[in-house]
Amino acid sequence: MSARTPFVAGNWKMNLDRAAVHALCRHLAVLAAEKPPSRLGVFPPFVYLADVVAELSGTGIVVGAQTCHSRESGAYTGEISARMIRDVGASHVIVGHSERRQLCGETDAEVRARLDAALAAGLDVILCVGETLDERKADRTAAVVTGQLQAGLAGLPADTIARRLTLAYEPVWAIGTGLNATPAQAQEVHALLRARLAALAGDAAAQRVVVQYGGSVKPDNIAALAACPDVDGALVGGASLDFRSFAAIARLGASAPRPAGSDR
Ligand code: PEP
Repeated sequence: MSARTPFVAGNWKMNLDRAAVHALCRHLAVLAAEKPPSRLGVFPPFVYLADVVAELSGTGIVVGAQTCHSRESGAYTGEISARMIRDVGASHVIVGHSERRQLCGETDAEVRARLDAALAAGLDVILCVGETLDERKADRTAAVVTGQLQAGLAGLPADTIARRLTLAYEPVWAIGTGLNATPAQAQEVHALLRARLAALAGDAAAQRVVVQYGGSVKPDNIAALAACPDVDGALVGGASLDFRSFAAIARLGASAPRPAGSDR
């Protein structure tokens, strides 16, 4: 495991209802009090964001949005700006998730505009990069992920990259499919991304940036992934909706602590 504190974040996508969000938050607060080895984060749907910020206040759990618009305000029906996300007390936003790239047609330039808007509004960013199955089969993984990284970060100050960026390597073929990269495949791409970060922002910044793995992370595969030197936690979709699964991932595969007073 690396010297960086792993960051395990749940991307709830368009799931859960108000009651389920509330129940999950109560469990998450207990998990945070247990001080698992990873930093925790959740990314609820917009309509629940303010509630989750309030419910998790004081727990140390990061709360963020799943996307943001690139403009500050204006005639963009249905959109949410980074400034609004900050205004309700969230601290982070995900940009460049493959579902946004694929389903909403977000290009590298659009992802960059959103990332710039987020930073300008005072939000920290999780930037997602990852190749499709066709791109992997065509041996284009390195070119695709480094191209997305370059488009997302080129020209940013090293200090901004070091302090405000989390990177998530999410092979598109592993998201929601039950397939996941082997630890060796993940480590190879994470090491490549860190080398590219070093070229962009210097070695010190690259060593500070948390690089999460995402794609069908589950309690039974997190330990092997987290043992890779350049894998610093996980961005978790489906398994983050189930508290027991998310807690096991947050513990990086270690067993749960015994309840106080238990001799089992
Ligand atoms: C994701 O969408 O970021 C993700 C990793 O999803 P899942 O864990 O369900 O594959």
